[in-house]
Amino acid sequence: MIALKQVSKRFVRPDGGVFTALSPSDLDIQAGEIFGLIGPSGAGKSTLLRLINLLERPDGGQVVVDGQTLTALPAAGLRRARQNIGMIFQQFNLMANRTVADNVAFPLEIAGWPAAERAARVAECLALVGLADRAGDYPAQLSGGQKQRVGIARALAPRPHVLLADEPTSALDPATTRGILDCLADINQRLGVTVVIVTHEMAVVRAICHRAAVVTQGTIAEIFPVIDGVAQA
Ligand code: ADP
Ligand code: ADP
Repeated sequence: MIALKQVSKRFVRPDGGVFTALSPSDLDIQAGEIFGLIGPSGAGKSTLLRLINLLERPDGGQVVVDGQTLTALPAAGLRRARQNIGMIFQQFNLMANRTVADNVAFPLEIAGWPAAERAARVAECLALVGLADRAGDYPAQLSGGQKQRVGIARALAPRPHVLLADEPTSALDPATTRGILDCLADINQRLGVTVVIVTHEMAVVRAICHRAAVVTQGTIAEIFPVIDGVAQA
């Protein structure tokens, strides 16, 4: 479902120095997997995740998602391909001046869905994350866990096959974290959405991942399976 082939990323620092955030790396993630990227802060996990939907443009290598080589697509093709890749964030990234329903509708507006279909899809997605009764609220009226549920509903609205999650529970307390992880596992099970999740916590990997990669200093050091909540590292 997701293949990175010799993908690499450098950043040029303000002083002109070059920093290697990801050395040339290969990664294969299967359809339907929940795949973790775990490692210390600054290891390159978030960069690796953002290379999957080309939020970061690789310096070398190929990114293939759902049979499409994203790195070979022109801008318009890439915009369309990105409808197939939802993303959620540590800080939720909701728009404060829009209601819950209008936040979820946002990617559908961008994609040009007609208003009636948009409304039906928004209702479906809010029901999926257990927030059908909060459609008219503003983000400020919600708890952290509820805000992340809105983030998940927004990411799923365009019916993506892939969901990228960048430290989705790092701003939440342990009980709320459990609820969000259960929600992601449920979506993976019910919809078959492939989930890639960045975390610095082994507990998150144990809770929901099928496999995970250890990222350290811009390299994929190891890939291990998780069986019945036990990391086979
Ligand atoms: P992680 O998610 O594992 O904490 P990141 O992928 O966010 O790590 O960052 C990896 C390294 O790349 C860090 O040293 C970070 O400072 C650097 N980095 C990330 N994005 C940029 C950028 N836009 N410009 C310069 N350096 C960056
Ligand atoms: P920015 O990129 O500055 O955050 P945008 O107007 O591009 O602002 O996006 C506003 C919010 O909507 C952001 O939080 C972004 O993550 C989210 N967003 C944009 N496009 C999509 C999309 N296709 N699917 C899900 N969320 C999206």
